[in-house]
Amino acid sequence: MRYSQSLLPTLKENPAEAEVVSHRLMLRAGFMRKLTSGIYTYLPYGLAAIRKVEEIVREEMNRAGAQELLMPMVQPADLWQESGRYEKYGPELLRFKDRHERESCLGPTHEEVITDIIRRDVHSYRDLPLNLYQIQTKFRDEVRPRFGLMRGREFIMKDAYSFDMNDQMAEISYRKMHDAYNRIFKRCGLDFRAVEADSGAIGGSFSHEFMVLAETGEDTIVICEKCEYAANMEKARVAAPQLDNSIELSAMEKVETPGKRKVEAVCKFMDIVPEQLVKTMVYLADGEPVGVLLRGDHEVEEVKLKNLLKATDIVMAEDKEVFDATGVSSGYLGPVGGSIRLVADQQVEAMRNFVTGANEKNFHLKNVNMHRDFEVESIADLRQVTTEDLCPLCSGKLELTEGIEVGHIFKLGDSYSVALGAVFQDNEGQEKPFVMGCYGIGVSRVVAAAIEQNHDANGIIFPVPLAPYKAIILNLDLKDNEITAASEKIYQDLLDQGIETLLDDRDERPGAKFKDADLLGIPYRVTVGKSYAQKGVIEIRRRCDGVTEEIVVADVVPYIVKGVAEATL
Ligand code: ATP
Ligand code: MG
Repeated sequence: MRYSQSLLPTLKENPAEAEVVSHRLMLRAGFMRKLTSGIYTYLPYGLAAIRKVEEIVREEMNRAGAQELLMPMVQPADLWQESGRYEKYGPELLRFKDRHERESCLGPTHEEVITDIIRRDVHSYRDLPLNLYQIQTKFRDEVRPRFGLMRGREFIMKDAYSFDMNDQMAEISYRKMHDAYNRIFKRCGLDFRAVEADSGAIGGSFSHEFMVLAETGEDTIVICEKCEYAANMEKARVAAPQLDNSIELSAMEKVETPGKRKVEAVCKFMDIVPEQLVKTMVYLADGEPVGVLLRGDHEVEEVKLKNLLKATDIVMAEDKEVFDATGVSSGYLGPVGGSIRLVADQQVEAMRNFVTGANEKNFHLKNVNMHRDFEVESIADLRQVTTEDLCPLCSGKLELTEGIEVGHIFKLGDSYSVALGAVFQDNEGQEKPFVMGCYGIGVSRVVAAAIEQNHDANGIIFPVPLAPYKAIILNLDLKDNEITAASEKIYQDLLDQGIETLLDDRDERPGAKFKDADLLGIPYRVTVGKSYAQKGVIEIRRRCDGVTEEIVVADVVPYIVKGVAEATL
């Protein structure tokens, strides 16, 4: 492509609206323009990067035996009512009526539509397994669309759905997708991890997220330094604590703690450490108050709590709500003689002679012990892992790091097929519901994540496989016939070798051309300027590490062809 003929509007300044690097750089490098909140037009350069991801995704999905189809974006509400999700999904599902007053919605995901197809057309175990996928625009009315393509309202997703005759076969389909995803993100040139993810009600390790490691990630992931264990913080297991029954239980005592509500203040006042205190956090689980007990220095992992309580929505109660529910000012709440439902983190059971609120303003209790002084409804792993915890598999040291979720695979089981009556006949003529899996990749988010992971102060550093152009040729003097002829020749030769190339033939100062080449993140920069006119050499520079060489014209194309081939898996 000739730069002079492209729509590639680069910006010199950082747009004020962009908070994260990828968003800033994508706006500056002319990837996209915002139409309205969370909704973007993908300009040619941005679309080309998205297409690169799509190409790799398609090849690997096809290789894994999946087939591509394309489902509608507009979906009838009836189908969502059948699955029970029309009520449950919440405001991310954009609902509207058509001219005939028929309730409809814009697809945020396609389990219902695909299950409807399968129930109509697939009837026998002989037709299984099946895995169908599409690459399509999704709409989710996100509360806080932000960070550009990272969390849009409209975005491009690859979603796949597998159908199997039993659990065992479904696990094979799941494994295949796990492998395909590993290949996809590796081929994209990204540093990523597959982590165990929360699978809500299903449980087990049947959900994995694929995380691109980057500081700006919205998710925290836990990685073992020794073994393969990696999990989303939401799911990361804390090893069960050792119970030590040798410590003697002391007599419980009430202590006046005037105005001391916070863990830190109570500890200071009573001359103890937070490890000797149990705090009572009040949550509203679908509106119902529940007290959660945990050690003073620990934090509640809300996803674990939500799963334990089987709640659809949990929020921490405000001070007033705490008072309304318990009759006690927050800060003095405790498990002894309280009136609300209580659950406890497993660590609390292993603690002896701890401090808690006394359920009375300005008082705490000392030497409290579970089972002797109070009971709870359930004891479970409810807290966030810390770096002081050890790996649940090998007791190695754990590391916490930030990640961007680019893919999510999930064993669904038969919940959709049962709800929608999608059944087949097994080899004994028995009617059975399909066992399903679903597998998503945020295609547009992958491009943003790639930039979060690969950039410097001057711009994007595209991993070669995702770069829309592998090389950019800077013609530094359009008026010099020799320079222009050499630029054109290299351009043609690269195109002939199948190397996507941008020829900067704009009437711009060299400085502007260098700046744009860096900003766009094109892996190889070929400069045809004075040294060509004087010495017959071309400067070639790699964007990834800045390595610069001067080579003769004849070597330029082979150099780039070799470099691109090496980066292509
Ligand atoms: P998140 O926790 O980030 O909201 P999700 O769990 O809702 O993601 P899925 O429903 O599993 O996401 O969707 C599959 C993939 O689509 C995600 O792994 C992510 O990469 C991408 N994705 C989800 N929501 C968005 C969005 N609003 N903008 C861009 N990509 C998205
Ligand atoms: Mg979401």
